[in-house]
Amino acid sequence: MMTKVKGKKMYLGGQWVERKETIDVYDPEDNTLITTVPKASQADMLKAIRLAEKGAKISASLPVHKRVSILNKAADYIMEHHETYAQTIASEGSKTIREARLEVNRCIHTLRLSAEEASRIQGETVAFDQMPGHENRIGYTYLFPIGIIGAITPFNDPLNLVAHKVGPAIASGNAIIVKPATLTPLSALLLAEAFDHAGLPAKILSVITGTGSEIGDTLVTHPSVRMVSFTGGLKTGEEIAKKAGLKKLSMELGSNSPVIVLEDAELDATVESCVSGTFWAVGQNCLGVQRIYVMEEIYEQFVEKFVARTKRYKVGSKKIETTDMGPLIHEKEAIRVEKLVQEALDNGAQLLTGGERNGAFYSPTVLTGVAPHLPIAKEEIFGPVVLLYPVTSLEEAIAKANDVNYGLQAGIFTKNMEAAFKAIHELEVGGVMVNESSDYRIDAMPFGGVKGSGLGREGVKYTIQEMTEPRVVQFKLSN
Ligand code: NAP
Repeated sequence: MMTKVKGKKMYLGGQWVERKETIDVYDPEDNTLITTVPKASQADMLKAIRLAEKGAKISASLPVHKRVSILNKAADYIMEHHETYAQTIASEGSKTIREARLEVNRCIHTLRLSAEEASRIQGETVAFDQMPGHENRIGYTYLFPIGIIGAITPFNDPLNLVAHKVGPAIASGNAIIVKPATLTPLSALLLAEAFDHAGLPAKILSVITGTGSEIGDTLVTHPSVRMVSFTGGLKTGEEIAKKAGLKKLSMELGSNSPVIVLEDAELDATVESCVSGTFWAVGQNCLGVQRIYVMEEIYEQFVEKFVARTKRYKVGSKKIETTDMGPLIHEKEAIRVEKLVQEALDNGAQLLTGGERNGAFYSPTVLTGVAPHLPIAKEEIFGPVVLLYPVTSLEEAIAKANDVNYGLQAGIFTKNMEAAFKAIHELEVGGVMVNESSDYRIDAMPFGGVKGSGLGREGVKYTIQEMTEPRVVQFKLSN
C-alpha cells in the first residue's frame, strides 16, 4: 500500500509553490516517509534568480531598522515554535532530539546576532593625504551589498547552517537563494516560514528544493548570482569553485580534525570533551574530532578512560531523550564508514570498541594503530570513529596533525602556555582551541578553514564582511 503524506511547498521569491514532481523525505532511523517536497527544475531556479534580481534592489533599500526588526521577528517566531523546529531536525536529519534543540537555540542566536550586526556595518575613513600632492582630499568607504547570493547547504546542521547564510545576507541588504541538501530540506523551509511571518518583502529570499546535480549548475554559474556561499564536502566544493567563474566564493568544507593531549592535561575533562567532540551528531560534524595525539606518558591511561566513556554512550532512537547518538544520515553512509574501518583493521589497526553496523546505525568506534597513509586517517570519516595515537613530543604531534590536506580547527589540552602558543603558531588550521576539542564553536566567532577545509570565514560579522563590497569615496576640496 502506498503511504499518503501531505507534501510541503517550496518558497519561491515569497510564494509557497508546489510542483508535480516531488522528492521524498525520509527519517533515516527507520526509513519512514515524512513528507515530500517539490523537485525544482532549472526553470524554477531561473525564476528564483529573476525574482532575486528585483529582490536584491528591494533588500538593499530596506532601512537598517526594518532589517533588524525582520531578523528579530524571525527569531521570535522560531522561539515560539521551538519544539516544531527541533522535531523537524531530529526527524529528517540524524541528530537526537537533545542535539536538535541545541541547534534551534543556536539558530535563534544566529538571527539575533545578524540583527545586531546589521546596525554595525561600517566603512572606514581613508587618509588620502599620506601621498604628497594629495593634501586636499578626504574620503571613506561604504560597504555595499554584493547583490544575489547563491547558498548551498549540507545535511548535518540543516537549520543553523542555513541561518548562517540567510541572516547575514538579509542584515547586509542582499537577496539570497538557498538550495538545501536534498536529504534535509524541511528545516530550511521552516526557516523561510519564519521570515515569511516576520514580514520579509517578497523576492528577497527563496528556498528551492531540488538536487544539486540538476539545479546546482544554474545557481552557481548564472552571471546575476554574484557570490556562491557553499557549505559541504571538499569534492563538491572544488567542482563548484571550478564552475562558478569570476564571482565571490565562500567555501566551508570538511576536515579530519586533530586534537593534541599533553602530559599535564586534566585527564577526565579532556576525555569528556574529546568523546563528545568525536560522537556529536554521529560524528557527522565538520569540526568533529577524528585524530587524537596523546603524549606517551599518559597514553594508556587516556585510552582506558576514553574507551570506558565511549562504552557508556547510548545509541538508539533519536526521539528518546536519553539517547546520546542516533543513526547516520543514510544506510549507505554507515556502510561507507564500515568499509573504512574494515580497511584499517585489514592493515593492522586494533578495534578497542564499536565497529558494529545495524542499518544506518554504526556504534561509537575507537581505533588504535591505524596506518597514517590510509584514507581513514587522511580523509574525512564523517562518522562515529576516532583514531588514537601515542606521540613522544609536541613537535611530533604538530607534524602529524598537519600531515593532511585539511585544516579547519584543532584542539590542544595543556596547562603549559608555551606549548599552547607553539601549537597556535604551528598548526595549519583556521582555529585552535586550547583546553577544548576541535569541536568548539559559537556563532559569533570567525569560522572556516585553510587547505582543503575552505576559503573565507563565516560567523555572522565575518559573513557580512564576505557578503559586502567596499566602495571608496574621494572628495577633492578646493583648498
Ligand atoms: P555535499 O555532498 O558536498 O553536499 C552539500 C550540498 O551541495 C548539498 O545541498 C548538495 O545537494 C549540493 N550539491 C551537490 N552537488 C552539487 C553540484 N554539482 N552543484 C551544486 N550543488 C551541489 O555535502 P553533505 O554530505 O551534504 O555534507 C557533508 C559535508 O559538509 C562534510 O564534508 C562536512 O565536513 C561539510 N560541512 C562543512 C561545514 C563547515 O562549516 N566547514 C559545516 C558542515 C558540514 P544534494 O543534497 O542535492 O546533493
